[in-house]
Order: sequence, then structure tokens, then C-alpha cells
Amino acid sequence: MSFDLPLLESSFFDLRTSLGPQPKANTNIVLVTVDQETTELLDGIAPLSLDIHTRFMESLESYNPRAVGYLIDMNRVAEANPELLRSEWGPRFVDSAKRLESKGIPVVLGSLFDVTGEVLPPYPLSSLSHSIARIHKDGNVFSDDKVTRRALTYLYDRPVFHMELAQKMALVSVGHEPPGSYYLPEVDAKYFFFRYHGDPANQPYPKVSFLDVLNGKAPKELVKDKILLVGTLMKENAQDFALTPYSKNPFANPKLTVHANILDSILENRGIARAPTWVDGVITLFMICFVVFWVLLSKPLYGVFATLGIAAIFLFANILAFGYLEIWLKASQPILGVFLSYYLVVPYRLILEYKKRWDLQRKNELLVQVEELKTNFMSLVTHDLKTPVAKIQGLAEVLMRKASERLQEGDRETVNSIINSTQELNHFISSILELNKVESNRLEMQSQSKDINQLIERSIEQFIPAARARRIDIIQALEPLFPIRIDANLISKVINNLIDNALKYSPEDSKITVSSREVDGFVEFSVSDHGIGMDQEEIQNLFTKFYRAKNDTTTRISGTGLGLYLTRYFVEAHHGRVEVESEPGKGSTFRIFLPLESPSRASPGLKADVSPSFKDRILKTINRIN
Ligand code: ADP
Repeated sequence: MSFDLPLLESSFFDLRTSLGPQPKANTNIVLVTVDQETTELLDGIAPLSLDIHTRFMESLESYNPRAVGYLIDMNRVAEANPELLRSEWGPRFVDSAKRLESKGIPVVLGSLFDVTGEVLPPYPLSSLSHSIARIHKDGNVFSDDKVTRRALTYLYDRPVFHMELAQKMALVSVGHEPPGSYYLPEVDAKYFFFRYHGDPANQPYPKVSFLDVLNGKAPKELVKDKILLVGTLMKENAQDFALTPYSKNPFANPKLTVHANILDSILENRGIARAPTWVDGVITLFMICFVVFWVLLSKPLYGVFATLGIAAIFLFANILAFGYLEIWLKASQPILGVFLSYYLVVPYRLILEYKKRWDLQRKNELLVQVEELKTNFMSLVTHDLKTPVAKIQGLAEVLMRKASERLQEGDRETVNSIINSTQELNHFISSILELNKVESNRLEMQSQSKDINQLIERSIEQFIPAARARRIDIIQALEPLFPIRIDANLISKVINNLIDNALKYSPEDSKITVSSREVDGFVEFSVSDHGIGMDQEEIQNLFTKFYRAKNDTTTRISGTGLGLYLTRYFVEAHHGRVEVESEPGKGSTFRIFLPLESPSRASPGLKADVSPSFKDRILKTINRIN
């Protein structure tokens, strides 16, 4: 959990700094830059000599700024012309600064820092307020990329440049610490992660020309009551630039702007506070649990989305927390935790899946074996049953025919009941044998050109006695049809089954309509009844093997639950389809659609079949018109 990932974390830090919301720059901080152009115009060579700086200070007196932070390396200035320091210019510089201070305008000189400590400004300038103005570069403590992310506020308990300037203006109290300040005992210093107010390369702070101030030509309102930071900005001097989270280009971010950002952060009391380690730990733990949960328990694709999603949401929330709440939640730890846990859990998930699939495969193999055994068993049993049942039925029928008159009424009923039961049993055995044939793919289609109406009429004839017995009227509405190629035996079974069902599930004294017609390239054959009907759930299960609806009528009436399963199978074998409409208590309509042109007829080898049927159709149409 406390795994430290400085380089990754510093990259996230930079991302949040430059991408997230950023505070507006304080326009009371004004930069006065001594650049290449100014130097060339004034003196020709850098650094500018002390007399120019002195005259600049004296000119400033008439502008009444709020404060002056002098970030020019005065030791270099003195080294270039040591005699100027000892002549009138040194004391004049000090006097001018003191006059400003006496007007309540603090002047602070920024000094350097080396192994010996603060490098004091040269005498007599050292008599003025001075403090270390160091731009901190990340070295070995955070990342090692020399980028400026934090700023020194106190060294050996003394405020450094920005803090001293702010305190001297009485804009912050003595000993003030910006949010997120922390103490480093090994250097006896206090730091804070200051806020950048926009990209330093875009110069978010107003500027005033050094030359204009020197000549008294700078607009008064640009300087009056402003906090002036005076510093150098030589294009080719890497010392005048810093690396920032916005750019690691060595000549992109002026150091003077970075100083302004630090001072701005102190004045506005802004700073990034690091969240306690336990908060980072809890977030990391939560994110890892989330990823592990999704990867283990959801579909693989959802696992990927969950991982990427939580990482994206976290980064977004992290940028917002950084930009608005100024809280630094560690990003490297949770993000790395999320992806590591993903890569560790995925193989585990794969092993689980593999095991599951292997189990399923085994189960499947077993099921296939059991199914085969069952089919063989059923086939054996039904075959062996078929002959004795047929014998019983035959004998009972013979008995009925020959000895009917000699039998008493009760005995006649018994023989009749034997005949009915054996018929039912026979029907059942035939259905099971049919099912076995279908399931073991032994069904062979014997296609021939046939007029379906003939099959329908023949089937209705068979059912007339049964219909009469229950006073059910079978109405025929058959339109003339073209013969189509079908297996007459299978389609007869389909027709029989539908009419048989309609009779079974209709009350006495009702009507059944059997119709046929041609629609959109299909022969439609339908059977409608005014029987018990079915609800939606029953309709959905209708074609399932062995399904029978559970109601008073169906429990009274015997059936196998195989009729419609086989019906659909036979119809689909002809590339047709079955449709059902039904309402409980009102009745049902079953429609069978068989294609006029069976797909096999389109094959080149069977083309000869096409023309006679086409001729038939023309003839039929002429007949119909007549
Ligand atoms: P069986 O009629 O032998 O039970 P089927 O497969 O032919 O088997 O029919 C399955 C079930 O569908 C029947 O048990 C019955 O509940 C229902 N059903 C079939 N046809 C009708 C119909 N015309 N009216 C009402 N219910 C029907």
C-alpha cells in the first residue's frame, strides 16, 4: 500500500496541474523584466551596471508601487563593475530603497543560496532587506526530473523571499503557512506545493518595461499599488528559466513567472494538501476490490469496461479534487493497483472458466450418451410392444365382429374399451417410433407432386364418425390449389394431428373449419375450432416435446404431447412454417404454410419438374376464371 512511485506520481501531478481547473493570476503582481533588448539598448552587455539599477530605483519612487521584490543577482552586477559599488551608486541604491521603505513600500532583495548558506548581497546593499529567492527543483526527494512543483517558505525558521515580501506587506501574518505546508527535518525547511496560475509560458502576469520605468515613461496605473517583481530574462540564459509541469523545455518557462506564482499562492493562501496515506490506501483497496469483483463475476468484456471505467472515473475525480479542492490524492498507487489486479485476476478467471467449460463438456457427453441409450431403449421397447398390441387389437376386433350378438351388453362395452385402449396405445407407440426416427435423423422424405386438398378431404373423412358422435360439424373451405411437392405421408400426419386436436379440444355441438388457399407463394392450410383455446404461456410451449397444457380438459383427454412437436418438425422439413392464434375459452386456429416451390426444385438437375407444374397452374387459373 505504501509503495512509492515517485516518477509515475509526478507525471500524474503534472497532468493534473496542467489539465485541471486553474486559479486566475493576481494582476496586482507585475513583472519587470530585464531582457536582451533592454540590456542591449542600455548598456550592450549583461549584467546591467549598478548605476542603471540605482536610477531605476530612484525612478520607481515617483510611481508608488505596493512593494518591490528585486530578483536581480546583485553580486554578479557588483562583480562586473566593482568600482561602481564603492562610488556614489551603491549608497544611492540603498538610500532610494530606504526612502521607498519609509513610505511603507517594502523592498526585498532576492539572494542566492549555496552550500555555505545564503549568499549575501554585496555591501552596502546587504544593509537592505534580503532573503533567499530559490526556485526549488525536484531532485532526489520526489521525482528526479528537476521540475519545479514545490516552493520553500522557511529555511532555518526564517521566511524566504516570497514569504518575507508577503509578510512585509502585512498581507499574511508572521509565521503564516500556506495549505499543505510540511516540514523537512533533514534540511530544517518548510515547503508547500504551490499552485500554478496558468501556463507560465503564456505569461499570465502583467508586465511593465524596465526601460519605461527607468525613463519615467511607464503608465502610472500599471505600476501604482502593484507588487513589482524585477528580474532578468535573457533568451539564452538557462538560469532565467525553470522546468514546470506544463513544459520540460529548458527555455519555455521564465523563472520570474514561477516566482510570481509562488508569491501569488502565498497571498491567496493556495496550496495543494496531500491526502493522508490511509485515504490513499482505502481508495486503492476499494478500486482493487471493484476490479476483482467485476473481473471474477461478470462477462469478460464487462470486466475490461469496469477496469477502464473505474480508472477513468478516478482520474477525473482526482483532477477535480486537485483543481477545486486542492487535495492531492495519490493516483499512481490506485491506477497501478487496478491494472495489476486486473492482470492477476484475469488468468485466475480463465482457469475457472476453463474448468467450468470442461465440466460442462463432460456433462454434455454424458447427456448425449444417456440420450442415445434412452432412444435405443425406447425403440426396443416400442418395437417389442407394437406386435402384441396390434395382436390384442386385432383379436378384440375379430371377437367383436364374430361374437357381438352373443355377448352381453356389459361384455360388449368391455371389448369396445379394449379396442379403444389398444388404439390409444398404438397411437402412442407410433408417435414414439416417429420421434425416434426424427431424433436419430432417420426420417427420409419421399417427395411427390400432390394436391393438398385431396389429403385434407381424405383426412376429414376419417374423422367424420368421431365428429358425428360428438355432434361437431366439420366445415370445409378449400380453394382449388396447384399440386406441390410434398411427402404425402408426413403432411397427412400433420393434417390428421391438427384435425384430431381440434376435435379433442372442442366441446360437443361446435364447429371446426378446415380451409386451404394460396397466399404469397405458399399453400396455406388451416384448422380453426371453438374449443378451450390456450393462453400465451401455453402457446409458447406448444411445440415442445411431450408438452401438454394442464387443465381439466387435457387431463381428461389422453394425448402424448408429441403431435405438435412432430407437426412442426415435418412442416419445417418442407421449408414451411406453423402459426397459431388462440384465446382461452374462445378457440384456436393453426395455420400451416408450405412453399409452392420447394427449394430443391430450383436446383438445375430437377428443372424438368418445373414446366408441367407451371402448365398445371395456368390451367387451374383459367378454370378459376371460368
Ligand atoms: P396431445 O394433443 O397429444 O396432447 P399435441 O402436441 O398435439 O399433443 O398438443 C399439445 C398440447 O397443446 C395439448 O395437450 C393441448 O394442451 C394443446 N392443444 C393442441 N391443440 C389444441 C387445440 N386445438 N385447442 C386447445 N389446445 C390445444
